Amino acid sequence: NDVTVKRALLSVSDKTGLVELGKSLADHGVELVSTGGTAKALREAGLAVKDVSEITGFPEMMDGRVKTLHPMVHGGLLAVRDDPEHAAAMDAHGIGAIDLVVVNLYPFEDTVAKGAERAEIIENIDIGGPSMVRSAAKNHAYVTIVTDPADYDALAAELGERSGATSSEFRKRMAAKAFAATAAYDAAISQWFAYADQGETFPERRAMASRLHSSLRYGENPHQKAALYVPQRVLSPGLPQAEQVQGKELSYNNYNDANAALELAGEFSGGEPAIVIVKHANPCGVAQAETLLEAWEAALACDSVSAFGGIVAANRPLDGPTAEAICKIFTEVVVAPGADDDARAAFAKKKNLRLLITDGLPDPRRPGISQVVIAGGLLVQTRDNGAIAAEDLKVVTEREPTEQELKDCLFAWTVARHVKSNAIVYAKDGTTAGIGAGQMNRRDSSRIAAMKAAEAAETYGWSEPRTKGSAVASDAFFPFADGLLAAAEAGATAVIQPGGSIRDDEVIAAANEAGLAMVFTGMRHFRH
Ligand code: 5GP
Repeated sequence: NDVTVKRALLSVSDKTGLVELGKSLADHGVELVSTGGTAKALREAGLAVKDVSEITGFPEMMDGRVKTLHPMVHGGLLAVRDDPEHAAAMDAHGIGAIDLVVVNLYPFEDTVAKGAERAEIIENIDIGGPSMVRSAAKNHAYVTIVTDPADYDALAAELGERSGATSSEFRKRMAAKAFAATAAYDAAISQWFAYADQGETFPERRAMASRLHSSLRYGENPHQKAALYVPQRVLSPGLPQAEQVQGKELSYNNYNDANAALELAGEFSGGEPAIVIVKHANPCGVAQAETLLEAWEAALACDSVSAFGGIVAANRPLDGPTAEAICKIFTEVVVAPGADDDARAAFAKKKNLRLLITDGLPDPRRPGISQVVIAGGLLVQTRDNGAIAAEDLKVVTEREPTEQELKDCLFAWTVARHVKSNAIVYAKDGTTAGIGAGQMNRRDSSRIAAMKAAEAAETYGWSEPRTKGSAVASDAFFPFADGLLAAAEAGATAVIQPGGSIRDDEVIAAANEAGLAMVFTGMRHFRH
């Protein structure tokens, strides 16, 4: 099923690697046909090229809107070579077969991203390019289509190995990629029309249009398949990019956990040094301190058992001492907006540790959507980017929280919104004292958080757990007084919760009786 490439049509906006590819094609005796700019670039490199206009008998016209849209091109692409009627039509009209198409499209997304005027954006909707891509991809039984400069080497290798021919597997693989490329391209255009062009960048109804980034070794478990898709840049401006500096390949769970850790670190953007340790998408220790090392130690102490094999995020570039300390325990992934030479050297000793350096932190208040697949559907919602400030808090108890309690309340609340429901978070002096996550009732979450705090006190030989004199946050209202009483028993002196239960009166009365200060946020942060 090998097909020898005799004639190639090259028409690319991104001219990366074009000349090298042209040379390698010429070496295999392939006749090169090209559109204006592409032909020029090839000729300047000394290659012989035929203009498309010579084949179509029409000049490129209308500012390049019409270049390759012609039966002489599309007939050459779409003809079923061994169908006698198709062959007769080719003969009758003098249509020559085109065996290879190398096309990449007008840079629509880049044009939008650079803030171009509407007319320029419209002009960057490629019409002829996608048409050729689709014709060639449809007819992959005979035609090779290459849409990504990253595949030029593979194409050259294929032609080298098969004396100027391509295999049907290769053509099929490239065709699949080509349709993915035109689908993503049209999705970007339709998203732009539907929303960006109407001044609505992140509408609630928008489903995320994404493109394949990479296949992953497996999913949450080894018997599951997995891949990473990334949103189109038109729709995700301002999100940080990460570079993996060292370590093993990132797994599905690594991505998920590193994301959870980084999102929470983003809450402390621009603030005091902060460390977040995540396990199974829940934070198991979060702290803010004067130095990153102190923050690491405080975060680790919250639940040093769970921190083993954890994912660590920082809100600022990592330094040597912090990196050395992190390396003392087994850590899967470290992600931070930078790392100095000492930190990199320390991590380099742990070959398997995956170090991700980002060019910023995500803004937790950014708009956008999240989605969950259910049986028979896709649940889509806007991100939980709602936020409260100190002014929004309503004191509901006889006692007002002290300034320190208020600070601890807000810290606990910030962490709690990143903990799976039911979430209970105790915090004191910028450090989580105990985290209860993912329980089916709030009282159990409260108990688990207190239990962890007690264990930490035992491990570190503290005279009392850090829940003593702490603030406690609950991601949703306490439906009964029992959860609140469990917190009081653990030593919490202040409570932050949304309020809004029909038994609020009962809960407030219990808080007053226990001498607690309690504030209502009026906003819930369920997370599932
Ligand atoms: P060049 O730089 O060679 O002049 O143009 C290359 C670009 O033109 C490629 O991105 C290709 O997708 C696009 N293209 C090829 N044929 C046509 C056509 O008939 N109409 C339009 N609008 N674009 C085309």
